[in-house]
Amino acid sequence: MLVADSSEDKIRINLVDPRWTKEALMELKKTTSFICPSCRTPVQLKIGETRIPHFAHINTCSIQGEKESLYHMDGKIQLHDWLQNQGIKGELETYYPSIKQRADVVAEIDDETICFEFQCAKISEQEKLARTNGYEKEQLSVKWILGGNRVKRLKTYEYRFNHFVWDFIQLNSAGISYLLSYCSKLKAFILLDSIVPFSKQTIFANTTILPSSQLSFQQFLQPTNVSWEPVVFQKQWMMKRDRFRNVPKVHVSKKEKRLQALIYEQYGIPLTLVPSEAFIPLKEAWRLKEAVYVWQTIVLHALESISEGEVFHLQRVLWLMNRNVNFEHFTQEKDIVQTVVQSYLNKLSTLGIIHKVKRNEYKKSNYSFFLSSYEAIQKRDKQMDTFFRQKRKV
Ligand SMILES: [Zn+2]
Repeated sequence: MLVADSSEDKIRINLVDPRWTKEALMELKKTTSFICPSCRTPVQLKIGETRIPHFAHINTCSIQGEKESLYHMDGKIQLHDWLQNQGIKGELETYYPSIKQRADVVAEIDDETICFEFQCAKISEQEKLARTNGYEKEQLSVKWILGGNRVKRLKTYEYRFNHFVWDFIQLNSAGISYLLSYCSKLKAFILLDSIVPFSKQTIFANTTILPSSQLSFQQFLQPTNVSWEPVVFQKQWMMKRDRFRNVPKVHVSKKEKRLQALIYEQYGIPLTLVPSEAFIPLKEAWRLKEAVYVWQTIVLHALESISEGEVFHLQRVLWLMNRNVNFEHFTQEKDIVQTVVQSYLNKLSTLGIIHKVKRNEYKKSNYSFFLSSYEAIQKRDKQMDTFFRQKRKV
């Protein structure tokens, strides 16, 4: 915490104020005790060698809850400076008693009061929504900035996401998804685009590091250079698929277990031999928050029950998917499932695997998705790779 009140005369002490040098604070500390401006309980002024001077609760803060990390504290100061350097006046740790919420940074921009929440700890969708609603009740806008510490990079294009990170993905005006986080260690914004989930936790994306001096507030609202180019991680994506085939998973989710049982019963194959067509990266797929090979295999299984030469509608595929598998997840958000499946069917038709007759209507060709030998699958995988190379942008 960087702001506290003196307990006697209730003067607000803001540690970012340049007059509070270490020496001045040492002096102040001798004569003054402090309280948290939000919960009004005592806090200590900590002046150490390694960490920046800050206030710490003696007991837990009833407003803020969790203990604040240095990463979070640094980030707040940097975001405050970032605004200030653009001529935007910002205030740190503003407390709103009516909603019992403390914003990390608050700025006045074009007659609008904007509260910035720099989120470095896990947060549930419900709590995020409740806090957003709280600000809205006070006619305040809120901008959530995910802490870069929450975006774990495993390889050049491979990331591990906590479940709550999904909720921070945004769409630009062209409808392309991106994730903008801020890292207080790098002092930079991290922009991820071309976001595609491989599994529930493993996400592929393209990364751009934007030092805060290179990103204006306007660009923060609407980042330029957000694009959809999964071809950049094509090679790593395919290696991931090959690994999926060769190294059986240790942890299999409930849904994967059900899928495994289904395809074993129907086609006599293990989960590692799901079709080659079940690894297609799609622009909208992140909205399903599901492993690519799980949901695409479910669609392919639905297609398999349609006869060769038959014309079918998107709705029929959705109905078959639901009947065959009945995953709760797929029945909850019908419009999202519809959009994603539609996009997938269109992709299969551009690859020549099914034929598009007209909007939302397709014709089944002579093509089997489920192959029973590892050799046949490997050959098909190679074919799919060629497809991707031919159509550079997948
Ligand atoms: Zn407090």
